[in-house]
Amino acid sequence: MALLTLKDIGKIYVSEGNVAVGIRGVNLSFDRGEFVAVTGKSGSGKSTLLNVISGMDSYEEGELFIEGETTSHYLQPEWEQYREKYISFIFQDYNIIESFTVLQNVELALLHIENPKERRQRALELIRRVGLASHIRQKGSKLSGGQKQRTVIARALAKDSPIILADEPTGNLDHATSKEIIALLREVSRDKLLIMVTHNFDQVEDCATRHIRIFDGAIEADHVIRKTETAEPATPTAPRSAPGKRRDVKNGLKLGGTIFAAKPKLSCFLAFLMIVGMLGIFAVTTLCGSATDMFDKHYMFHHIDGRVVLAHRDGSPLTDAELLGLQEAHGAVRSLHYDALLDDAYRFGARIGDRYISLSYTYGEDYGTNIVGRYPTAADEVFLYLPIYLQPAAGKDTLLIDTVDLMGSFSAKVVGVAYYFDNNLTARCLFTEEGFRYATAQRYLQDSSTHIEAFYTDTTGAEHQAEIYSFRLSSELAPGKIALAEEGFLSMQKSGKLASLSLQFSATYYRYDYFHDDGEKHMTFSKAFTLDDVDPTSTPSVSEYGKVLMMSPETLTAIAEEALGGTYRQASLFFENDAEAKKAARALQEAGYIAVPSYTEYTPEPGETVLSMVASIFLALIWLLAIVFLAFFINLCSGRALSAFKGDMAIMRSMGIPVRVIRVGMYARMLLSLVPACVLLAVLAVSIFTSPRMNEFFVYLYAWQYAAIYLGMILLTVRITYTQVKRLFGESVKKSLKGGGAA
Ligand code: ADP
Ligand code: MG
Repeated sequence: MALLTLKDIGKIYVSEGNVAVGIRGVNLSFDRGEFVAVTGKSGSGKSTLLNVISGMDSYEEGELFIEGETTSHYLQPEWEQYREKYISFIFQDYNIIESFTVLQNVELALLHIENPKERRQRALELIRRVGLASHIRQKGSKLSGGQKQRTVIARALAKDSPIILADEPTGNLDHATSKEIIALLREVSRDKLLIMVTHNFDQVEDCATRHIRIFDGAIEADHVIRKTETAEPATPTAPRSAPGKRRDVKNGLKLGGTIFAAKPKLSCFLAFLMIVGMLGIFAVTTLCGSATDMFDKHYMFHHIDGRVVLAHRDGSPLTDAELLGLQEAHGAVRSLHYDALLDDAYRFGARIGDRYISLSYTYGEDYGTNIVGRYPTAADEVFLYLPIYLQPAAGKDTLLIDTVDLMGSFSAKVVGVAYYFDNNLTARCLFTEEGFRYATAQRYLQDSSTHIEAFYTDTTGAEHQAEIYSFRLSSELAPGKIALAEEGFLSMQKSGKLASLSLQFSATYYRYDYFHDDGEKHMTFSKAFTLDDVDPTSTPSVSEYGKVLMMSPETLTAIAEEALGGTYRQASLFFENDAEAKKAARALQEAGYIAVPSYTEYTPEPGETVLSMVASIFLALIWLLAIVFLAFFINLCSGRALSAFKGDMAIMRSMGIPVRVIRVGMYARMLLSLVPACVLLAVLAVSIFTSPRMNEFFVYLYAWQYAAIYLGMILLTVRITYTQVKRLFGESVKKSLKGGGAA
């Protein structure tokens, strides 16, 4: 049985409406051990014949048999396998991978040897055999034509395929080198079928066993010149290890590494583009951060471990006595009657160092023991929970700030700070219970519609009237006392001529009702003062405060609680922890109260849900779009540089390297160029987490968001590689070789 048989093979080229005959009516049969010289005029169809035999070109007519088996049903993957098993191709223009070393070029053809050591050894052996021992680590681009062709021969031998096809292998070489190459070819292919196209029959006359002449696509002559030395080898084609998926992937990964290292400049450029892409996705993720709002929990109340919010079912106000009774009966650690400031969405500005930030006010929270300073113990002391970027201003080991102005009207001593990294959070100001009550009083009585009118008389009976602009909390006043910062009043007080005072304080306050919304949100409260309420020792300076009513914290709190007491319907009890809170809430509910642990979430209204969902989907789409855009951009930037690989890929394919290996190699190479970008992002994430400056500048992202960025980048890389692979494999091997080959 012949190794290779062509029966009535015909190949026609159709391009731009022109029909050219490649070959026609070719009937040939070949065996191992033959050295077939093919000659003919230029354009007669010699290359076409080799391309058809190699499976790189299709044929329209006839049939090609390999070891007696028909190939007419072959599709692309079968042809790849066929090439891997049977064919080694040697071109006129060498077609070695210029950026690979001799060793890498040869090893590429030894992928079927799984053991890397064995592979290396075999490669070195072959390189020695073709006389290139001193050029093992030389890059392809630095070799002479003869050396390149030797490399190709070593590569052809490495494959150990039964058929070697050579298309004018000495066409670009000088006479002496040509003779050497032909002798080498003959020597190494004694047990193989060697078909060599040549324009110079004289060169091969000495060693060819058969001469075929082609004219106009048809066989003109077919002579046997001498007997083949070895007719049939003892062993048929060595069975190759099955082309396993795992082996292909392993080889592909290794190939990826080799490609990556072979072109350092291109790899650096790609890595740079990947960094641009990574930063782009990071920026977009930061901008689209609110897309995650959809997954945010909607707490009904500000969550403090152990807190339960309480109200009467009928909406009537709770009394202090009742609350204390409940605290005792249910084993609460403490209680807070006027607790709405905890849940106040209003943020209070405060100056920390040279920065102005928002604070929310809180009470009864614990920030652990990793704090600077201590927790507050007095009413005018506070503890601040600040973003880490304020650490340089507020102090790392010792406290650097001593006071903070709150709500623009009273100043508190800062006794401690703790820091957090998640700069999406709002800073907090932690009070003592008493301090929190003062702050609540301030908050609920201080409104633009506060109205204060003062009438006073002197000892002569003269009446004076003054409009006071606002009120202020002053901790210097004796408990329960007030002072009036108004010029006339103060001078009279100084000279001891004050006879009487009648002062009316009215404030409109906002009513918080979580449980009963009866529409009435604003309540007005009035309080009268007389001369007895004035602290005689306190004489504030007017220039400092303007016309202001000063109140001791106790006075202010008393009026606030008097005001709120009649209407405020909510209170908080604090238990050891949330588990206790849950138990207590159940018991309180059984006792007829509305009792809600502060960890309770609520479902937003459908409209709100839909809106936030639509917004989230929209942002997610923008995120994806940005990735696609970046992929497009990177693809555009790298496209030209990468098409340099087209030739290399075609060479690999012509060598019969499985498409899967090349494909895995391409992906591996791209993912390798992604590594610096990944490292950069990791460094960025860590520095946002550890360096206060970075923490201020960048939005804090959660681990899963970083995971999304990495995923996005991998997606982008896969997308780019996919386009490249498609472009590279879209063209036939032959065309790619012509376009990208080194000719
Ligand atoms: P040779 O190698 O003997 O010089 P070829 O096999 O390359 O000749 O070409 C044989 C014929 O087929 C020529 O007429 C040539 O113009 C035509 N031909 C070869 N390749 C193509 C192609 N890709 N498209 C169209 N015509 C082609
Ligand atoms: Mg040709």
